[in-house]
Formats: sequence, C-alpha cells, structure tokens
Amino acid sequence: CGVFGIFNHPEAANLTYLGLHALQHRGQESAGIVTSQEGTLHAVRKMGHVADVFVNGAFAQLPGRIAVGHVRYTTAGGSLPKNIQPLTAEYRHGSVALAHNGNLVNAEQLREELEHDGAIFSSQSDTEVILQLLARSREPTFVERLCDALGRVQGAYSLVLVTEDKLLAVRDPHGFRPLVLGRLRNHPECYVVASETCAFDLIEADKIRDIAPGEILVIDHTGLRSVQLRRDNRRFCVFEHVYFARPDSVLDDLAVYEARIAMGEQLAREAPVEADVVVPVPDSGVVAALGFAKASGIPFEMGLIRNHYVGRTFIEPKDSIRHFGVKLKLNPVPPVLRGKRVVVVDDSLVRGTTSRKIVKMIRAAGASEVHLRISSPPVISPCYYGIDTPTRSELIAASHTPGEIARYLTADSLAYLSPEGLMRAVRGDSGTTYCDACFTGRYPIRFIPPPGRRQLR
Ligand code: 5GP
Ligand code: SF4
Ligand code: MG
Repeated sequence: CGVFGIFNHPEAANLTYLGLHALQHRGQESAGIVTSQEGTLHAVRKMGHVADVFVNGAFAQLPGRIAVGHVRYTTAGGSLPKNIQPLTAEYRHGSVALAHNGNLVNAEQLREELEHDGAIFSSQSDTEVILQLLARSREPTFVERLCDALGRVQGAYSLVLVTEDKLLAVRDPHGFRPLVLGRLRNHPECYVVASETCAFDLIEADKIRDIAPGEILVIDHTGLRSVQLRRDNRRFCVFEHVYFARPDSVLDDLAVYEARIAMGEQLAREAPVEADVVVPVPDSGVVAALGFAKASGIPFEMGLIRNHYVGRTFIEPKDSIRHFGVKLKLNPVPPVLRGKRVVVVDDSLVRGTTSRKIVKMIRAAGASEVHLRISSPPVISPCYYGIDTPTRSELIAASHTPGEIARYLTADSLAYLSPEGLMRAVRGDSGTTYCDACFTGRYPIRFIPPPGRRQLR
C-alpha cells in the first residue's frame, strides 16, 4: 500500500490526490482521502485507481488544511469496500483517520481479545485493531493513547494519522516499510509525509528525512515533535529495493535506481553468460538489466515491449486474470531477438508462471538461446509484513532447485543473485539492517497464526 499526509495547506486534498497518483504502483485496488476541517473529518473512498476515484467534484467534499490518503492492495482482509482506507473513527476523545502500509502479525489474536471484550469491528482489516486499541486506552493525551495502542501491536506498520488538529507519521520499531518527511518548496510551513519520495517530486516538496524506526512524529501548529516508541534492529524490507518501490525514489537514504543497477552488475559478476543481447522484462527488470549490460559489456535492447494500460498483473487478485495478463502486458520485438543468444533479466521469480511464458515468447520470436537472470535470490518464504507474496506451496523455489526451475521454464540457463550479493548491492549486512525473510526464511518477527475461526487470507 501507499500512504500520504499533508499538514497546513489550503488545497490539502488536491495535493494528496497528486501524491497518491505518484504512489499508485503501491496499490491499485482502492484509494481514499480523508481531510480534517474544524473538528470534522471528510472522506472520499472508493474501489479503483486514483484517477477514477476522485472525480465529479470529489474535492468539494474534501475541505480542510490537513489530509491523509491511501492506495491499497490487499494483504489482510478482502478486497472489499468496507476495508478501504483511510479508516475513520469517532470515539469519546474526538475523531481520527488512519492510513496503514504494512501488515500486523498479531492482529487476529488482538481482534479475538477485543471481540471477547465486546468490541464490534466494521472492517476485516488488520488496521482497525489499532483504532480499537486507541479508543480503549485510558491515557490522557492522543499521543500517549497511540503509544499505548502501538505497544500492543506487532509487525510492520508505516502509519499516517489525522486528528482535528494534527498530522502524525509513525514507523514500526523495525522500520519494515518506508515513510519519509518533507516540506513544500514554496510553502515551507506545509509539511508532507509519504511512502516514497517520488510523491514529493510531483508536488515540489523537498525531503527532510526518513521517519525513524519506532518514531511517532507529531505535526501541529506548535511545530514538529517526536516520541520514540521503542527501537529494534532496523529491518527495512529489501524487496522494496528489488521490486516494489519506484526506481526514482530514495528509500532510507539509498536511491532505488542505484540499488537496482548494483544488483544487475553484481548478478553479471556472479552469473556471467556468453550472449549477444541483454533484454529486460519491463518495467520491473529494466534497471537491473542496465546494470547487467554495463558490467558484462553485452548490449542492452528492448526486446519486450510492455503495454502500460494494464496494471501490475500480480496485484490483480484473481488467478484467471493473472494467467491471461502476460500476453496482455508484453509483446516481443523479433528484430532484436531473431537468431540471438538472449539474456533475459527480471527482478524476481515468484511462481514461475510469468517467466515461463516470457521464455517461450522470446524463443518463438526467433532467439537461438534464452538465459534467464534474476536480480534477487530465490523467493522461498511468504511475507507477513505487507507484501503479497503467495503461500509457500505456490513459490516455485520453495520446492525446486534452480536446475529444475530452468527445465520448467524451458530456459537454457537460470541464475539468481545470491543473498550476499543482494545485501552488497543495497549496502547492508544480511540479518542486521534489512529484512530478507522471503529470500532466506529468517523472520525478524514471528507470525502469530489466527486462533482458529477466522482465516487471515
Ligand atoms: P513469475 O515468473 O514468478 O510468475 O513472475 C515474476 C514476475 O512477475 C516478476 O517480473 C515480478 O516482478 C512479478 N511477480 C509475479 N508474481 C508476483 C508476486 O506474487 N509477487 C511479486 N512481488 N511479484 C510478482
Ligand atoms: Fe520485504 Fe521479503 Fe521481508 Fe516481506 S519478507 S518485508 S517482502 S524482505
Ligand atoms: Mg515484473
């Protein structure tokens, strides 16, 4: 998911809309904006893309100088209207709106406890647990109530909250998901927060800094102040650099573009191949393929063309759509491929179904050899922290060797970037600065399975 927040701007909703546009790649199922004006919250939330949700006078329904926005793709709770964020609540101390990127690992357990105690939930979202805990806290101030609530939840959360007079930005103690603070170049009194810096570029805001792991940043008319929730080992999601984030963003002080170039270069060193042309799987494989071409000296060509009017296929929830999606999305360019030994570079291999079709497509266009190079290690474990990787049984590398996978894909060879090589590319030490659990199975926080009755997904 993607989150955005803005404090103290007359066109808060409009700028939030633009910010969400820049974050659209982080979720295409639904979008929402909530504004705060003189103690009242106003909301527009719908299923669909940002451009389709905020139409026909939506901004007239969103007055106020404080706003929070969200684009969603499902990790917990169904793809349903009642789960669209930002969530809003009225409780005895006032109103609050909340947008969440991440996934809580003990939400179902907490929900059972709260329901046992009489709480009623209006969504299936793990995020609602935070609002319920906030409303039940006996602490005297909002920030203390929030600390109290967050003291009970575990997992990944980058949050943006809006109250009558405040904007708050929160990152979980491990800092799994990104969240960055900035200010508008022409309105320095106007602060913004967003999942990625690409949202700032569009609205002409400058990055000030990342929200720190475990930090609660409070922005109101008295200025900025921070409360430190607790701090754990930093475990920023390395998959943001591999795939999820936009390459023009800077995440935790590392440019995604540079990280992906480095992944491709490292991959070329680790798994060289004699070939005539390097072809990326667009768009996710493009930057790593440039790195591979640079390090190997093999020319880079666009041998596959992507139709940009089709969404990221893996985010579409239905299998049938995902299946059909490859041909909808990609088409080969025969003059680039005919008679050539082709190195195909992609960012990740998850199920193998897409890659198999791509290999066949390239061969059918006349390639003499097809070598697949993946700029991340084999995905062997599911993510519990907010990226929708499939269950273990669907992860091809969880049960097959690279040789077996190459045969299934009908590729002449297949090689992945090593976990160490990936850490080198993102300038981190495995197991201390990044989460790489989907590649290594080493989980920073244990997932707590739901206690029976309800399934998380
Ligand atoms: P596959 O060959 O595993 O079916 O698809 C790999 C390609 O699709 C990569 O380009 C990757 O960007 C994308 N992809 C497919 N499925 C998923 C998924 O479930 N999660 C993620 N993160 N990426 C996926
Ligand atoms: Fe990111 Fe993978 Fe960790 Fe999930 S398990 S947070 S996708 S690195
Ligand atoms: Mg891809």
